[in-house]
Amino acid sequence: MKIGVLALQGDFDAHRKRLEELGAEVLLVKQPAQLDEIDGLVIPGGESGTFLKLLGNAGFEKLKHFARTKPTFGTCAGAILLASEVENPKQSGLGALDIGIRRNAYGRQVDSSIRQGKLGESPIEMVFIRAPKIERIGPGVEVIATEGPDAVAVRQGKAMAATFHPELSEDTRVHRAFLDLVSNGHKK
Ligand code: GLN
Repeated sequence: MKIGVLALQGDFDAHRKRLEELGAEVLLVKQPAQLDEIDGLVIPGGESGTFLKLLGNAGFEKLKHFARTKPTFGTCAGAILLASEVENPKQSGLGALDIGIRRNAYGRQVDSSIRQGKLGESPIEMVFIRAPKIERIGPGVEVIATEGPDAVAVRQGKAMAATFHPELSEDTRVHRAFLDLVSNGHKK
């Protein structure tokens, strides 16, 4: 199983390490053509507006096709990229997840924080950094993790997103869930 990590910007290396720890072969994706070589993709945190600039139109279209057809997991800025609607400010999304998301939704005072949320029913540490908030959840979208009243990780088909940074906690469950999604996709 070969997993790509989009390596244009942001904290891609922590994802690489985590995925390798879990036994996946990792390809750092810097060129759109590399998407043809992988079975699943992680889009890391960073600045979603910068990702859009670096991708350009052709990169965006290629990534859109990938994210709508193959397993893709976005964290934080990656979650923003996967959404169908983005606010604060409005910007394009890949539309792989039918969610509305607001960038930098927690305000300056809580720029970053470590909180305890729930993955399903189990407690899990969550690291938030200038995190977005999922404000609308479409009918086909499943909530897989919550923090207080908020949905913080969701899934729709083969697309998955978290507004926190599971690559910065020791807990490997979220990445495992993504790798399961990739291997189940394989069997079909
Ligand atoms: N604030 C960033 C954005 O809006 C996301 C922050 C992150 O990925 N840690 O794109």
